[in-house]
Amino acid sequence: MKALKTLSILILTLLGSGVVHAQTTDSVDAVDYDVAVDLSSGNSLQGYVDVTLRLLRPCTAVGLDMICTVDSVRVQGVPVSATSLAALPTAGIAAGQDFHVEVWYHSPGYVESGGWGGMHFENNQSYNLGVGFAADPHVMGRALFPCRDNFTDKATYTLRVTTKAGWTAECGGMRQSVATDTLGREHSVWRISQPTPTYLVSVGQAAWERIEDTVASLYGDYPLSIGYRQRNEQNVRAAFAELDTVVPMYEHCFGPYRWGRIGYIATSKGSMEHVNNIALDQDFVASTSERAQTTIAHELGHAWFGNLVTCATEGDMWINEGGASFCSEVAMEAALGREASDDYYQRWLESVLRTTHITDGGYRPLHGMPHQYTYGSTTYDKGWMVWHSLRGYLGEERFYSALNRLMASCAFGNIDAEGLRDSLSLYTGVDLTAFFDFHVFGPGFVDYHVEMARPEEGCLENEVEVHIRQQGVGTANVMQQNRVPLTFYARPGFDSTSCKRVAVFDGEETRQVFSLPFVPAFCVLDADCEISDAATVALQTLEGYGIVYTLPTVFARLKTMHDGRCAVEHHWGRPVGAMPGGVVRTTGRYWVVRGDWQTDSTDQGMFRFVRTGSQTTYDGLDRGFLSQRASVDSLALMYRPEGGWMWQAVSFSRNGDKNSGYLVVDSLVPGEYTLAIVDTATLGIARPEYAEVQLFPNPLQPGQPLTVEVASEEAFEVAIFDLGGRQVWHQTGCRSGQKLSPALAKGTYFVRIENNFISLQSKLIQL
Ligand SMILES: [Zn+2]
Repeated sequence: MKALKTLSILILTLLGSGVVHAQTTDSVDAVDYDVAVDLSSGNSLQGYVDVTLRLLRPCTAVGLDMICTVDSVRVQGVPVSATSLAALPTAGIAAGQDFHVEVWYHSPGYVESGGWGGMHFENNQSYNLGVGFAADPHVMGRALFPCRDNFTDKATYTLRVTTKAGWTAECGGMRQSVATDTLGREHSVWRISQPTPTYLVSVGQAAWERIEDTVASLYGDYPLSIGYRQRNEQNVRAAFAELDTVVPMYEHCFGPYRWGRIGYIATSKGSMEHVNNIALDQDFVASTSERAQTTIAHELGHAWFGNLVTCATEGDMWINEGGASFCSEVAMEAALGREASDDYYQRWLESVLRTTHITDGGYRPLHGMPHQYTYGSTTYDKGWMVWHSLRGYLGEERFYSALNRLMASCAFGNIDAEGLRDSLSLYTGVDLTAFFDFHVFGPGFVDYHVEMARPEEGCLENEVEVHIRQQGVGTANVMQQNRVPLTFYARPGFDSTSCKRVAVFDGEETRQVFSLPFVPAFCVLDADCEISDAATVALQTLEGYGIVYTLPTVFARLKTMHDGRCAVEHHWGRPVGAMPGGVVRTTGRYWVVRGDWQTDSTDQGMFRFVRTGSQTTYDGLDRGFLSQRASVDSLALMYRPEGGWMWQAVSFSRNGDKNSGYLVVDSLVPGEYTLAIVDTATLGIARPEYAEVQLFPNPLQPGQPLTVEVASEEAFEVAIFDLGGRQVWHQTGCRSGQKLSPALAKGTYFVRIENNFISLQSKLIQL
């Protein structure tokens, strides 16, 4: 289901509805419901249900859940005095025996305190929504009929509906019969013959306009009906046109559609995946907007994720809702292609990394979600990211083939996270223990940082060593059994331009050598958006001079003065490495810029900042870093060429205002960038340079002089810092090739070479 956006804020503040419900026990199993509802008044419901229950073990009483007024009750045809259905006598009924409970009831309708789930009677339509955001339990079949109201007790249904005169009904199931009486009221009978939980059973009535069509797919042709009001028919048809490509794609990925027909009705409250009769927000029913199309796809995706295989407890709602949101991405791939669906996914990954832990009050594991966050962003959005990541982890063919098997073997059943892990491990032959431990049973994300070393002496030219380290974001856990996709891009002059390798490793870091068909120029982490790590990446082909490229998923813009290729990664890991004195604090995120660059770059790189609480686009970006009290003048851009180098402040200009904008560097070069709050009085600021500096010998033997070679005609200062950023030696007026005697203790140092034209760094090891 999908509520209107404002509702998700509301649900965090509302408590349970307070409606009494029977405790779910396994003493009884609902087998079938025969429900008759008379909606002809248009503002209330007269109902009758004959529920077939099977007693699972001997007991003296069982209960039904309800939100209605009971008129009379019979158990096995015998009248029972009961105003509540919490304890219906079962004396004399044997374990294993089926028995009937009949209830005559009425209701003026009911809406949960969240304003969403329940039975709605509006001026021009009546319909139920089977889930309540603020209800406890969230299932709300009981607003329509007395039932065993939980996610796991699945039954079959007959629905007999009488409408208001002149209106027609749209309900779950296949319509068995329909007739209109002399007063103009419609009487229809519907049958849901697949085992279905109560929250997916629906009725609706209005003076619908109705489109009937057929969706031809891989396993059958499915009747399609759309009930709507006050919309242009052609626009409604256009809104659902993609079902012809989406349903075959779903069947390819997840197996047969098992519900016989596809139906949607427009409602005023939001969208809900009722079997055969999806409630769809009326704003979406005639719209081809991205929100409309992805919602239509999300709700239909529930026909597999949730309706066919249901989460065993609400604590694993990510299986339903994350799965259905993943379906939206799959649908977009079917309709618009992979580039569009990758872009859609990355925009949501960006949003999840920036906001989900804020809206849900922290980084939460998907599994065991507390009741009040059942329908939060973690469940929907991070849940989607993890389904997406599973596809990348397993490979598409293996993943979809396993999902086909899962949907078949677990059809009309329930599953929890452990069961899902074990089933998918079994079907794929890939042990998913570590993946689930990190992504499902633990909170947060993993951020991978990748560096490509130059080929070592003696290595073949096309062998490259890659260093990968991980850090947790929102977690202290370390991901094991990592699978990190890497794309290498060739230097100009080779036939192939790129190739992909996967680094597989345990633990916090790894060094691996890959053999490539070419000499690589640079390497990009997860260029094909396969894994939902704590980084987003934008690949850009640069063409022409002075073109500005806006890269919203990585919070950067480029204005380039050369042709070439470029990749910008935005990481939510903390920038690693020593900061110079004068840095007060750094933000918890950084960029990596890679690509083809000349050493004398005149490209502009623009890096976004957003003050906490400024309510601009990308609010939350610098939460806790650029606070309301901090002066924007103390904001600095930090740079280092690669790991092992000390960060340095680089010169920049700023655009935007004091709350949000970009720090603009005029000579963009590859390397890492981050933001810092600095004490400008004590921090030197220089241009970032990509020029070579040669220190030799390096490592330096005790007593040996150090020679610095740099392409600069001017004299420069050499300053040497220890790993803590403390200056331990310096000399001004140095020239390239001059022998220096710094007299250092054994250890690793950073050497800074600086004059009015250059500011360079290198690492030095003193033996
Ligand atoms: Zn949903």
